[in-house]
Amino acid sequence: MAAGGSTQQRRREMAAASAAAISGAGRCRLSKIGATRRPPPARVRVAVRLRPFVDGTAGASDPPCVRGMDSCSLEIANWRNHQETLKYQFDAFYGERSTQQDIYAGSVQPILRHLLEGQNASVLAYGPTGAGKTHTMLGSPEQPGVIPRALMDLLQLTREEGAEGRPWALSVTMSYLEIYQEKVLDLLDPASGDLVIREDCRGNILIPGLSQKPISSFADFERHFLPASRNRTVGATRLNQRSSRSHAVLLVKVDQRERLAPFRQREGKLYLIDLAGSEDNRRTGNKGLRLKESGAINTSLFVLGKVVDALNQGLPRVPYRDSKLTRLLQDSLGGSAHSILIANIAPERRFYLDTVSALNFAARSKEVINRPFTNESLQPHALGPVKLSQKELLGPPEAKRARGPEEEEIGSPEPMAAPASASQKLSPLQKLSSMDPAMLERLLSLDRLLASQGSQGAPLLSTPKRERMVLMKTVEEKDLEIERLKTKQKELEAKMLAQKAEEKENHCPTMLRPLSHRTVTGAKPLKKAVVMPLQLIQEQAASPNAEIHILKNKGRKRKLESLDALEPEEKAEDCWELQISPELLAHGRQKILDLLNEGSARDLRSLQRIGPKKAQLIVGWRELHGPFSQVVEDLERVEGITGKQMESFLKANILGLAAGQRCGAS
Ligand code: ADP
Ligand code: MG
Repeated sequence: MAAGGSTQQRRREMAAASAAAISGAGRCRLSKIGATRRPPPARVRVAVRLRPFVDGTAGASDPPCVRGMDSCSLEIANWRNHQETLKYQFDAFYGERSTQQDIYAGSVQPILRHLLEGQNASVLAYGPTGAGKTHTMLGSPEQPGVIPRALMDLLQLTREEGAEGRPWALSVTMSYLEIYQEKVLDLLDPASGDLVIREDCRGNILIPGLSQKPISSFADFERHFLPASRNRTVGATRLNQRSSRSHAVLLVKVDQRERLAPFRQREGKLYLIDLAGSEDNRRTGNKGLRLKESGAINTSLFVLGKVVDALNQGLPRVPYRDSKLTRLLQDSLGGSAHSILIANIAPERRFYLDTVSALNFAARSKEVINRPFTNESLQPHALGPVKLSQKELLGPPEAKRARGPEEEEIGSPEPMAAPASASQKLSPLQKLSSMDPAMLERLLSLDRLLASQGSQGAPLLSTPKRERMVLMKTVEEKDLEIERLKTKQKELEAKMLAQKAEEKENHCPTMLRPLSHRTVTGAKPLKKAVVMPLQLIQEQAASPNAEIHILKNKGRKRKLESLDALEPEEKAEDCWELQISPELLAHGRQKILDLLNEGSARDLRSLQRIGPKKAQLIVGWRELHGPFSQVVEDLERVEGITGKQMESFLKANILGLAAGQRCGAS
């Protein structure tokens, strides 16, 4: 039987694509791969390592239940039918004689180069307790495993690539955590307690508050790693003297910053994970706390299995969030990483069932397709000065407190909490809001250029980011426009005031002056000289020779504007209506006609409701058609003055003329 046969390829592709979408793959990135916008698929690589019989273990004298066939395949006895064997094929099979160097060089070393391309990579050791996971990942001083070898090579590689004179400056940091009973514990700072796993707007998984130590040499790495390893939670079970009850996750980040323009930065994350045992805890003799631990461990591993199945079957929902382990591995399984799963198995018969189940899991995992992409952005300093919010000025734990638990998943784009400078802890919106407009313009044009190149490159800015930038730019332009208009308005007001003052000096006693507008604003000086007091109108109305009659309509509300108070107050008050005598009306008409026929544009502006534009229109019309003959008809013909406005125009101006005469006479 050929176990682990392929399921429908198309559904897997779709699953990988949806997982990439979930994990944020393909968003906010400038792909170095460049040929296509969609990152090319990279299947999860699966290697199986069979450890040798170990001295002192029970059943060491039994014949092995599993054996290798070639460098990629193995077979195991079929417990249902002793005449048959179950055959499995993987990307690599390492037999009991394989060395630590074989595993490392054959399966791990090739993916390290991706870190320098700003891509993520992960190595997971899977298998039952006692099958050799820790030996494979950590090893011993005599037989160093994947972790020390990878660190040695990576540090060497970054030293070479980041040397003076090379285009990129490189730095490496490490974090070390364990997931124990669904709690995330910082092994570099065990006092920090359970940490939360968050996802930022770009789909990056991050753990705020997790220690991050810069390392530039292997000695640096050992200085942090060795004491931290002693902090690991280990317990004894019947299966293994030093059985790990937790998942240990070493995170190594390679940060690259371009030394010259356009000052890009890249970040590659390497997860090196020693998973807790996958054994069935009913056979480990676990009771009480140990059973609880096993239950918790198996919950994470059970969800890991469900995640792999969901990815394989192309299910719309991949249950990453159902356990801490899968949440953390979200971008390593069906996500953005180059992943390798090393399934460790043991030859002893008593491991048989756990070995079969580990092999089945490994076979399902090799069908998972990732889509690694380059994690690249512009360096913060290239984006101009930035302002920090209070939350970001606080350290991660304080920020967490300030934020409250409900905001756990609303991640900021900053990576795992680091000894990073404050300027690195920025939200994209803040970057944008404080961005130099010239820089903003350059970014947008660069983005347009990239977009116009079609398949030559992914957009520089993610869609939401680009939209925000365009929006910010529009807002900025509008602000400038408003400022410009405000300045212009002030200039015009000053000019008007100067003109009015001049007019007053030159024409005051003789000039026909209409009533000023009733609306009095706080900003404009009050023109008391031309406002006819209500009392005066009433007196005039009371005189027998009065030409203006004031009719009183009681009980209507109107806005009363006091000369002293800026705020108009609404008051139930009598309302006054004017009735003009026919003589005054005729006289007023004539005066207006004279003014229309002879007055300059400035004179015309002294009429009510005639602004500079209408005054110019009247003068222009007069030059074209000759003098006005009748106020109403002629004025109606002038564009901009409608018949509807005419009555109020005449009333207001005749009153003004009358008031002017009285003012002049008194
Ligand atoms: P796990 O971490 O899976 O529980 P360990 O790595 O602790 O298992 O391995 C169990 C025992 O087997 C250890 O004593 C370890 O040294 C030994 N061992 C595992 N793999 C190998 C190997 N390939 N060669 C030699 N000894 C091994
Ligand atoms: Mg172990």
